[in-house]
Amino acid sequence: MRKKLAAGNWKMNGSLAALDEIKALASVTDGSVEVLICPPAPLVHAACAAAPETVAIGGQDCHAKDSGAHTGDTAAAMLADVGASHVILGHSERREDHDEHDEDVRAKCNAAWDAGLTAIVCVGESLSQREAQNTLDIIGGQLAGSVPDGATGHNLVIAYEPIWAIGTGKVPTTDQIGEVHDFIRARLERRFGAGVGRSTRILYGGSVKPSNANEIFAVSNVDGALVGGASLKASDFGAIISAL
Ligand code: PGA
Repeated sequence: MRKKLAAGNWKMNGSLAALDEIKALASVTDGSVEVLICPPAPLVHAACAAAPETVAIGGQDCHAKDSGAHTGDTAAAMLADVGASHVILGHSERREDHDEHDEDVRAKCNAAWDAGLTAIVCVGESLSQREAQNTLDIIGGQLAGSVPDGATGHNLVIAYEPIWAIGTGKVPTTDQIGEVHDFIRARLERRFGAGVGRSTRILYGGSVKPSNANEIFAVSNVDGALVGGASLKASDFGAIISAL
């Protein structure tokens, strides 16, 4: 059985004072589902110290190299060194703001695995790609290009995040979510074999809130969520965790 995962992506939000929101998750996490918060890089170390035992901490990106002349970047091993266990890779905001392509994400994923981190690899179509009925082709291409060989079932999580649903309040229908999640599951099984394919978690992300979490979590092959805005407050994120 796949353990459900509620992952919070704080993006470029938060402060040392905001780490109280992570502490407050202690009352809604009993270990029955996995809970993860990914704060901005300067907060990762302090977040690891502040987090209750039931809350894991991750980064939002890492470099593909393990050290060197890369001003402003963070190595996967540095995240692991300060206590992080996961890293989000290939988020659409990284792909767009930093011109990241599938081959970059793939290299970063290898670096994350070398450092012992679980990689949460994001895929998702734009609105125009969906309207042109290219969604599954786009997702299939991103999966093939962004995920390296070597998935084990533990070191990889896929997050399906339709770009048009991120931060917009628009959510795909449950049929649309189910179609993509079933497709991703089939692709993972075909490439990595049934054992790995069936044990890899597939998260949905994009405008997940306490009010729609139940409906989304009831969809087949949805193993949790990658939550942006609604992960910033323990009250909202706690309600989403409780819906899993
Ligand atoms: P959102 O962001 O929940 O604010 O829509 C999700 C994400 O980008 O991971």
